[in-house]
Amino acid sequence: MAGKEEVFVGSIDQGTTSSRFLIFDTAGEPVAVHQEEFTQIYPNPGWHEHDPEEIVRSVENCIEGALKIFEKDGHSKDSIKAIGITNQRETTVVWDTTTGEALHNAIVWTDTRTAGIARELKAQKGSDKTMNICGEPISSYPSATKLLWLLKNVEKVRKVYEAGNLAFGTIDTWLTYKLNGGPEKNIFVSDPTNASRTMFMDIRKLQYSDEMLEFLSYEFDLKKVHMPKIVRSADKEVYGKLSSGPLKGFPIMGCLGDQSAALVGQKGFEAGSAKNTYGTGCFLLYNTGDKPIISTHGLLTTVAFDFDGKPVYALEGSIAVAGSGVKFLMNNLGFSQASHKITELAESVPDNGGLVFVTAFSGLFAPYWIDDAHGTMFGITHHTERGHIARATLEAVCFQTKAILDAMQKDSGHELKELKVDGGMSNSALCMQTQADLVGIPIVRPKMRETTALGAAIAAGFASGVWKSFDELREKGEWEDV
Ligand code: ADP
Repeated sequence: MAGKEEVFVGSIDQGTTSSRFLIFDTAGEPVAVHQEEFTQIYPNPGWHEHDPEEIVRSVENCIEGALKIFEKDGHSKDSIKAIGITNQRETTVVWDTTTGEALHNAIVWTDTRTAGIARELKAQKGSDKTMNICGEPISSYPSATKLLWLLKNVEKVRKVYEAGNLAFGTIDTWLTYKLNGGPEKNIFVSDPTNASRTMFMDIRKLQYSDEMLEFLSYEFDLKKVHMPKIVRSADKEVYGKLSSGPLKGFPIMGCLGDQSAALVGQKGFEAGSAKNTYGTGCFLLYNTGDKPIISTHGLLTTVAFDFDGKPVYALEGSIAVAGSGVKFLMNNLGFSQASHKITELAESVPDNGGLVFVTAFSGLFAPYWIDDAHGTMFGITHHTERGHIARATLEAVCFQTKAILDAMQKDSGHELKELKVDGGMSNSALCMQTQADLVGIPIVRPKMRETTALGAAIAAGFASGVWKSFDELREKGEWEDV
């Protein structure tokens, strides 16, 4: 090692069920990881919340934990050049700008309490124009209806709004704000991959759309709410520095919503590349290059990344339930308490025995967008056993992926040649084989599975000069057929 300076990049990966901090070397391999789960709060059927303060604490703990491993292995923290953030998208936090304190639990992306608000908005204002401005249809999924619900239903939120001090943010914004010390430094930013999930952003201009804000100002004037400045996904200056902990003073230089980060981590830099992440939910992103394609087949238009002011776009197919279906079998139906055992159970039967499980626990997302759909299982006979239910649960995400791919081919006019996969459920060989059989194209999986975290590290690594070009990165990493 003598004479060769070690260089690393840190990555905060704030997901739906856990937070992680990873430290990557320049080959894109993680050398230290710490992960912490946090509380999932389900106050009513269809409601899903997180405690925003607990999320920040979990991230701080992860940084501390990973750093201990890193230093124990003989590395110096000074070799960490920058930190990136990737996060669960859409999840909505509101706080008081004067105190920096959250005013309510975060409303999580899966939460369907706002289906009524979405319906009212559609009835009063029509549903034709939003796709072309912000790339999304009106539904309970983007942040917009979640903010409207908080304003309408939580007195504390309304009072702070009336006093002119209400801040809105997705998790990227909340984390950068808090990790930088809150109101004192007042770093209040979001990147376009996150802002494109709110319905507030003009998908072409990458700035707030007056037209959308007016359209959504349903009972409340959204221009009175403080919204974060939209900045590039990779930037030396705008994301601030950690204000406490073992990495105090270290700069945050990159930020990507989790699904965009996975596309970047899979090196999906070119138009035509696609990835599907089978995590809590499942999200297929198809890189469409420098022009947004507005879907006419039920997909979303989103920003893939904006590293240098030349945004790259993606068509997105979002599935609300993937791994959370596996968790449902374990937590609600008393199936075996390990995810891989669900796959083993599914393998214990030769087929689904005629059982179909529509896992619409949070309504149905792409390409259907039915907010008030509920889960249903049909085809049950005396022959049905647990193995069939397990198999049908894995198949549910594969059928929805097939519907999304069909929609993508219609919207883009191109056939996909290969699908890169990642996420917890991609560990299930049966699930991936079922997927390959259904879509009829090769499915490849990276050997290094922390693609989401790597994506955020790549954003920060670009901003800090650790990596200088896509070509340098494309060479790194290995894939395997599944
Ligand atoms: P997230 O980042 O959304 O929290 P992950 O990518 O960590 O999710 O994936 C976790 C999900 O993958 C869990 O819901 C888990 O049940 C599921 N999972 C992990 N391994 C398997 C497996 N071998 N078979 C089926 N499901 C699996």
